Amino acid sequence: MGKYNLGVDLGGTDIKVGVVKENGEEYTIIARGEAKTQVSKGSGAGIPANKDADIIVSNIVKACNEAIESAGITWDEIETVGVGSPGAINRADGIVVFAGNLNLNNFPLANEIEKKIGKKVFLCNDADAAVVGEFVAGEAKGKTNAVCVTLGTGVGGGIIIGGKLYSGSNLIGGEVGHMVIQYNGIKCNCGRKGCFERYASASAIIEKTKEAMKKNRDSLMWEIAGTIGKVDGKTAFKAMKQGDEVAKEVVDEYIKYVACGLMNIIAIFQPEVLCIGGGMSNEDEKYLLEPINEIINNEQFAHKALKDENVKIIPCKVVIAKHKNDAGRIGASCLHKYV
Ligand SMILES: [Zn+2]
Repeated sequence: MGKYNLGVDLGGTDIKVGVVKENGEEYTIIARGEAKTQVSKGSGAGIPANKDADIIVSNIVKACNEAIESAGITWDEIETVGVGSPGAINRADGIVVFAGNLNLNNFPLANEIEKKIGKKVFLCNDADAAVVGEFVAGEAKGKTNAVCVTLGTGVGGGIIIGGKLYSGSNLIGGEVGHMVIQYNGIKCNCGRKGCFERYASASAIIEKTKEAMKKNRDSLMWEIAGTIGKVDGKTAFKAMKQGDEVAKEVVDEYIKYVACGLMNIIAIFQPEVLCIGGGMSNEDEKYLLEPINEIINNEQFAHKALKDENVKIIPCKVVIAKHKNDAGRIGASCLHKYV
């Protein structure tokens, strides 16, 4: 037996839905549905707020229907629906207060979905959903302090302190993607320059890959991507694995920035575990996690006093989220317990 809840991971590019079966402490995705988010290009720059809201809602419903159909069940068997959305989220009222990547502003997303499906809908920030997913059923299970950083279209942060989800005042704490790691660096949608997100997201490595390709016409990355428009977060990794030097430079630089931001987070929170989720977490551990950990392990105990053998400190463990890019869906599916 067990019961079913729907978990929706609403991203800047894709909507991913899972029918999640909850059985005691076990959470399993038994079927999936997907749709494109379809946000107008260049969101935030002169596009009227909530212009894409209706299409986002109907695409969410479409992906939910697909997941339910593929599970071979009906809406009657679904208890609740949980949605993890980028941006600042008012969990209590189910409102997207502000989401630059979706161009949503003060939008009652939970309510609008409820109107279409007739089920209770819970809403939270996407990285919060990911950390909840890992907390109930993944790498952060049984931990007291944990952080999940999602490397996707943007970079999100979900923080659990003392076993509770931390959102800060105004519900917009934990936005680690907008911590500056390069003073006066690349301009960000948020208005600052040099944000972590501009260097560590999938979008960031895609930009860097394209730049490197334009400068190096004979790079293997051209063969792998086909055209510049088809470059994705894996292109540089794939070419690097086949010995392409230019691709290796792109990946090495990406890793350095990711490690820099993660180390800042560890310095502030000293969590027991830091999980990496989001689309980039699907990369082989050997090429993503291991080099990140090499840098972090060197820096975590850079302070001389901490190298003293008599000082017993357990370093923060940096891991790939157990449920990788599914952590958000699993966490969203059990929001009825956390919102
Ligand atoms: Zn920013």
